[in-house]
Amino acid sequence: MISLNKVALKNLRIWNGVDDSIDSGVDAVMFENGDLTFVGSSEDLSRESVSVVRDMEGLTMIPGLIDAHVHLCLDPHVKNPLDQDKLSEEEQFKAMVSRAGAMLAAGITSARDLGGGRWLELIIRDRIASGELAGPRLLCAGQPITSPRGHCHFWGGEAADGTDVIKVLTRQIEHGVDLIKVMATGGNITPGSKPVDAQFDQEILSLIVDTAHKHGLSVAAHCHGTAGIRNAAAAGITTIEHCSWVGREGWAKGFDPEVLALITRQGIWVSPTINSGWKRFMGNSDYVDLLGGNYARMREAGVKLIASTDAGIPNVLHHDLPTALPVFANIAGLRAVEALRSATSDCAEAIGLGGISGQIREGYSADFILFDGDPTLNLDVLAAPVQVYKQGEPVLAA
Ligand SMILES: [Zn+2]
Repeated sequence: MISLNKVALKNLRIWNGVDDSIDSGVDAVMFENGDLTFVGSSEDLSRESVSVVRDMEGLTMIPGLIDAHVHLCLDPHVKNPLDQDKLSEEEQFKAMVSRAGAMLAAGITSARDLGGGRWLELIIRDRIASGELAGPRLLCAGQPITSPRGHCHFWGGEAADGTDVIKVLTRQIEHGVDLIKVMATGGNITPGSKPVDAQFDQEILSLIVDTAHKHGLSVAAHCHGTAGIRNAAAAGITTIEHCSWVGREGWAKGFDPEVLALITRQGIWVSPTINSGWKRFMGNSDYVDLLGGNYARMREAGVKLIASTDAGIPNVLHHDLPTALPVFANIAGLRAVEALRSATSDCAEAIGLGGISGQIREGYSADFILFDGDPTLNLDVLAAPVQVYKQGEPVLAA
């Protein structure tokens, strides 16, 4: 029986999210009830029963992009984090809804929200899932666990010891989070907290990981300084956020091959949070040399990098990812297709959406973007999508 919502698109160039290049034999997809039910040649498509077939005239299709690190609640135009929650919940919610819409329109069909203070992003997550609001599929961490007066303490997740840690963690689970976030080091935006300093020892981080795992949740750890990276890696967290290798001598100067070996051994993903504003480092050769050297060593060791922007921090817009990817590729020494994998199939796998999104593949959600140009050859193309689809629904007018 033909279902009215069996839609097929043909005459496409399709990058499936995994391969090194586009397979010219695959030029058609079909989707039904939000999922891809056919990916193959137009010839094979003609044997399927389809209700609507659209000729896409040679557009290039890639999976929808995934940002592994955003903060929907943060206003990128506000410099002081303590000013962020001055808005009423209602005003803040409204702003967050509009950010989610802008992300989706830019081609970001999934994202991981790594923290806020009011759990508003969880309400948005659920309303997006029910189709009430437009936005990316969201995974949310709620309040990050941090030390007293530590990084982002103003979000309410302060914990002085193991008992406190369990309390904060349990509160997040009660609010229905998808993962746990912990601040393993200090951070830039919090006065009095130092990026180089570890905020928790390995024992506390292991307690967090074990408790989260018991509830089926992964753990993302904010890590700037090398000591904190070591503690988090030893505890077996799932993703290292930032991984800035801050040492006593400064940013990127604390690289430690033993810590790198630990990250690799534990199979931990690294989410470097490179936004489009990092273009400014591309003209600053010393820092770029340091950064590039660290990325080269990580990649040689087999660390898998995933795309992330930390959207919401000052000057980083929530829909930054498409313009951040060319900068990320440049600084981390990635080929275009590697950068794209880091924002599609690899990112999905790292954050727990493998098997759901991040690939153009039968059984996966019909989340994809169409372009005039070919992003596998030129990442700058990402800034101008012709059309975005999420779960088989077009986001922009054709
Ligand atoms: Zn962040």
